[in-house]
Amino acid sequence: MAEILYGAPVREKVKEDLIKRIRSLEKKPVLAIVQVGDRPDSNIYIRNKVRFGEEVGVEVVLKKFDVAIEEGKLIEEIQKLNQNENVNGIIVQLPLPDGFDTEKVVASISKKKDADGLVVSEREGEVLVTPATARAVMALLNFYKIQITGKKAAVIGRSRLAGGPIAKSLEAAGALVTVCHRETSNIPQICRDGDILVSAAGQPGFVTKEYTKEGQTVVDVGINKITVLGSEKTKLVGDVAFDEVEPIVAAITPVPGGVGPLTVACLFENLLDLC
Ligand code: NAD
Repeated sequence: MAEILYGAPVREKVKEDLIKRIRSLEKKPVLAIVQVGDRPDSNIYIRNKVRFGEEVGVEVVLKKFDVAIEEGKLIEEIQKLNQNENVNGIIVQLPLPDGFDTEKVVASISKKKDADGLVVSEREGEVLVTPATARAVMALLNFYKIQITGKKAAVIGRSRLAGGPIAKSLEAAGALVTVCHRETSNIPQICRDGDILVSAAGQPGFVTKEYTKEGQTVVDVGINKITVLGSEKTKLVGDVAFDEVEPIVAAITPVPGGVGPLTVACLFENLLDLC
């Protein structure tokens, strides 16, 4: 039986620390969220951020624009937020609707206010904060005292939002990291070789028992919506085939209830670091 690495206690710890930090500030921090369109999943993520902000004492301002807004106008609006001294952090809720150049829009956020840690300048990797998902993975591993330094880690996925920064953070903490992506051959073998395996592929059930070994720590970053067999209902699952992997490994995060709940908290840690 593996140890189940729940996100909730870690989130509570991060929240307590945030509340203390925010109380010691002279002014309530302000996070601006830029949303284009009305995607139901984005609305849920935004509602979670607004709620968490209320709980810790941060004002979250939602700037919601119609899908018809021109890209240039959207960038102008972001630049206004850059200039606004009352705003400490800005995030663009992704994905943007089709037709928008995400790179360009995100790059218009001032680096000093880039709470998602996505604005990379010409010098690769030069961001002021670590993207919240990577911060959440590290917070979880540290909370449960999983040794990282000197260990082998395999990361599936190399996106700018999830896999890439997770690999960088593990490396910075002293792990020997191998990143797998769509073009990688031998993924099961590479994953089996890791003391820590992090999956951020966005593929339900991708990580089966062939990818794992005894003693391993498995962190499932995937959040995938699937239809429940024989019904029209949907549910959220990770990348890991939990039922067959859990009996083998030493520790594993559940989905939902693992990394997900922590990510919002880590976004607010980023905001505080920018303040
Ligand atoms: P993405 O599509 O941008 O990147 C996926 C990465 O996985 C790519 O690098 C791709 O090469 C790799 N990949 C995909 N299929 C693969 C396969 N079959 N074999 C090997 N590599 C493969 O997605 P993303 O934005 O990085 O998100 C990944 C997953 O993480 C999604 O399920 C997303 O919902 C979830 N996510 C969770 C959080 C959180 O808070 N827990 C935050 C961000 C993303």
